[in-house]
Amino acid sequence: MKTSLCSLFVLFFLGGMMQAAFVSAAVSQSVQSPEAFLGYEKGERLTPHHRVMDYVTHVAENSDRVMAEPYGKTYGGRTLMLLYVSTPENLARLDEIRTNNLRRAGLLGGEATSLESKAIIWLSYNVHGNEISATEAALFTLYELATGDDTHLQNTVVIIDPLLNPDGRDRYVNWYHQTAGRQPDPYRTSREHIEPWPNARTNHYNIDLNRDWAWQTQIETRQRMAVYHQWMPHIHADFHEMGVDQPYYFAPAAEPFHVAITDWQREFQQTIGENHARHFDDDFRVYFTREIFDLFYPSYGDTYPTFNGAIGMTYEQAGNTQGGLSVITADGDTLTFARRILNQHVAGMSTVEVASMHYERVAEEFFRFFRDAAETPYAPHKTYVISGNNTPDKLQLLTSYLDAWGISYGHAPNTRSVRALDYQSLEERTISLNSQDLLISAHQPKSVLLNVLFEPRTTVVDSLTYDITAWAVPYAMGLEAFAIERRIDPAGPFSINHPVTDFSAMPEQPYAYLARWESKQDAFYLAQLLQHDIRVRFATQPFSMDGQRTWERGTLILTRRGNEQHGDRFDSVVRELADELGRELVAVNTGLVMSGRDFGSSGVPMVHAPRVALIGGPGANPNNFGEVWHFLDQELEYPHSVFEHTHLNRVNFSDFDVIILPQGGYLNQVSNQVKDDLRRWIRNGGRMITFGNAIRALDEGDQFQELRSMPEPTDEARTAQQLLRAEDRRRDAAASLITGSIYYLNLDNSHPLAFGYPEFYYSLKSGANAFEYLESGFNVGTLQAGAHRSGFQGYRVKDHIENSLIFGVQPYGRGNIVYLNDNPIFRGFWHNGALLFANAIFFVGQ
Ligand SMILES: [Zn+2]
Repeated sequence: MKTSLCSLFVLFFLGGMMQAAFVSAAVSQSVQSPEAFLGYEKGERLTPHHRVMDYVTHVAENSDRVMAEPYGKTYGGRTLMLLYVSTPENLARLDEIRTNNLRRAGLLGGEATSLESKAIIWLSYNVHGNEISATEAALFTLYELATGDDTHLQNTVVIIDPLLNPDGRDRYVNWYHQTAGRQPDPYRTSREHIEPWPNARTNHYNIDLNRDWAWQTQIETRQRMAVYHQWMPHIHADFHEMGVDQPYYFAPAAEPFHVAITDWQREFQQTIGENHARHFDDDFRVYFTREIFDLFYPSYGDTYPTFNGAIGMTYEQAGNTQGGLSVITADGDTLTFARRILNQHVAGMSTVEVASMHYERVAEEFFRFFRDAAETPYAPHKTYVISGNNTPDKLQLLTSYLDAWGISYGHAPNTRSVRALDYQSLEERTISLNSQDLLISAHQPKSVLLNVLFEPRTTVVDSLTYDITAWAVPYAMGLEAFAIERRIDPAGPFSINHPVTDFSAMPEQPYAYLARWESKQDAFYLAQLLQHDIRVRFATQPFSMDGQRTWERGTLILTRRGNEQHGDRFDSVVRELADELGRELVAVNTGLVMSGRDFGSSGVPMVHAPRVALIGGPGANPNNFGEVWHFLDQELEYPHSVFEHTHLNRVNFSDFDVIILPQGGYLNQVSNQVKDDLRRWIRNGGRMITFGNAIRALDEGDQFQELRSMPEPTDEARTAQQLLRAEDRRRDAAASLITGSIYYLNLDNSHPLAFGYPEFYYSLKSGANAFEYLESGFNVGTLQAGAHRSGFQGYRVKDHIENSLIFGVQPYGRGNIVYLNDNPIFRGFWHNGALLFANAIFFVGQ
C-alpha cells in the first residue's frame, strides 16, 4: 500500500538518526583489513551478506572515521546498512553538514549555520546481486578510507552503501559456493559460470532494483531513497558488472543524454573520467567511456541522482553472472575475481579523490542546480495540473510519490480560461481551474525531476537508448492531467476529499453493502474479503439505488443472503476491513434498484475466489514473472501457487481456476501431454492469463491470437537497405523498433476485463509485435490510428501496429484466454494497469 509511504520514510530516518543508532568508537589503530578479518585473500572467496555486515560493523566500532547506520531490511529479512566516512571532526557535526546541504540547495527551510562546503559522495554497491565484485570492493574502499591518508576526507563526506541488494547477492553467493569445486574452473561454460533461472541479478521478487530508483515499488528502494533524500549527495557512483569480455566502463556516459542534464554535469563527468583514466593508465588497465550506458530513463542509479542535482554515474566491471572466481575471456585472458575487485576499488578511491580536489565547486554547482531549476525551469511547461476529478485513490497515490520525491504542490487557484495541453489528446485547449485541482509549479528547486517525470513527450536526443523512452507519470497513473506553459503558483495546501464512511450511522444489519471498484486498493479489499470467505457479487451493469448516484460496473455487492454462515461476523468483517483499508462502504436496505440490474439478477454474478497458479522456470522472463509474483504476494496478498514449467507434469490443473503465464517461449519445452492437459483445462472452464504470446506453444493450428507479420519492404526500400553504409546499419534497425512508448488505447469498458476504467487506457508498449483482432472473442483494448502519445516509435512500425489487439478475451470451450499483449503492471510502476490485471484474475469468466 502506498498510503503510508511518506510517514514511514520520515519515521524510519528519524528513528535512525535521532535515536543514536550510530555505532562508533575512537580506536582507529585496531581496524583489521578485510583479509585479516574475513580470513581469506582478496578474491579467494565470495563474502556473504552476514559477513559483510560483520566487517563493516567491525570497522565502525574501531575507527573514528566511520559510523554505521542500519536503514532497513530486505524482503528476505537481511539488514541494509550505510557507512558514513569522514574525519572525526566532520562526523561530529554530520547532521549539521546534512541540513546545511539541504538548506543551501533550497530543499529545507531555515538558514544554513555555515557556508563551508563538503562534497557529499554516495557510493552504491551491488544493486544487481550477481555483480559481486562491487560489494567486495566496498570493503576494501571502506578499509582504505578508514586507515589511509585522511586528506580527502577533510573535504568530503563519503556515504557507502556496501550492499543494496542482499537477497540477490546471497542467492548468487550461496549458489556459487554450492556449485564450485576446490579450485575454480575458468572454463566459461562450465556449471559454475551458468546461473540457474531466474538468476541473482534481481531482488527477492525478481524485480530489477536498478530500474526502481524513481518508482520505489520495492522495500529496499523505498527505505534507501528515504535516507538518500535526507542527504541529497553531490556525487553518486553506482557499481555494476557487465559481460566478461568487456574491460571497465566509467563516466562520461553515452548519448542519449536527457536534455535536462546541465553543462556542469556533463563537464564534471568528463573530469571524473579523466581522473579514473589516469589511475587506470598507471597500471595499464583497459577501459572505455561514452558507450552503451546512457543517461535517459530516469529510474537508474545514475539518472535518478542526476535529475536530483548530482553527478550520477554507472561504473561497470567485466564479470557479472559468468564471472565466477576466474573465467577465460574471449581474448584468452583469465579474468580473476581479485582483479575485478581491484578495478572497482581504484574507481571508488578515484571518485573520492576527484570530488575532494574540486569539493567547493562541486558543492556550489549542486546548489546552483536547484537555484537555476527554481528560477528558470528548462522545460516549456511551467505548471502541471492534476484534475480534482481523479479518484481519491489516484490522487493519494500521486501525492505519496510527490512527497517521496520531495516535489512540492498545492491546490490550484480558481482560474478561468487557461490554455493547457491535455495529456489525453495531446492537444491544446482552454480549461478552467478550481481549488479541487492539484497544481505543481515548475518554479521550485525540484523542477528538473518534476519535468523529467511529467513531460508529456520525452525529448529523445538519440533513439539508441537501451531502455524505455516514455514514462510520464499522468499516463502511468491514468490521471486526467494538463501541462501549462504559463507560470501559476499553488494557492494553498492540497488535500484530498476522501469519502468517509460513518459506520456508527449504519443500520445494524443492512440488506447489502456496496463498495466501488476503481483502484488497486479496491482489488486488495476484494482479495481480503475472499480470504475471509465473504461471498461477494459484482455489478456487470451500472445501477442506481436512488436515482442520483450511479454505481459503475465492477461495484462490489456484499449481500447478507449468501453470507449467513458468518452470522454477525459478516458485518464486522466487512466493516473492519473497509475501515482498515480506507474503503468507502455504503449500506442499503433493499436489493431492488431504480435502474440497472437487481442484486438477485444473473447480471450480478458471484466472485468465486479463484485458485491461482503462476508458471515460471527457465525461458520465462524473470522480470515479468517477478512483477506478477510481487503483485500477488505483496500487493494483493492473495494466496497462489508457483510452479516451474519443468514440473507441470506433476500438477493437477483442475485444482486451479486461473493460471498466469508470464512472457517467454518456455511452454515449448513442456511435453505434449502437458500441453494437452492445459488445453483441456481451459476448455473445462479454466482461465489462462497470458502475457505477450506465452500461450503460443499450446496453439494447434491458429486457434489463438494471431501475430501479424511485418510488411515486406518495397523493392526500392530493400535496395536502399542493402546499400546502407555499415556505420548507419544500427540506426536504420531502430526504424523497426518501439523501445517502450506510450499509446492511447480504446477500451471496451463494458467487458469485465476493463471494469473500473473509462473508455480509454494509456498503455506502455515495449515492442513492435502486433496481433490481429480476435475473430471470435472480445477485443477489449485496441490500438487504433493516432494512438501514439510519447516515446520513440520507429517510422517503419507506425502503420504496422495500428488497428491491433492489445488486451483481449477469447472464450475457449467453457474457459477463457485473457491476452495481455502489453504488460499492464510493467516494473510495478505502471499503476494504472493494476486494476485491469485484477479484473483478469477475479472477474473475467465469472
Ligand atoms: Zn548491473
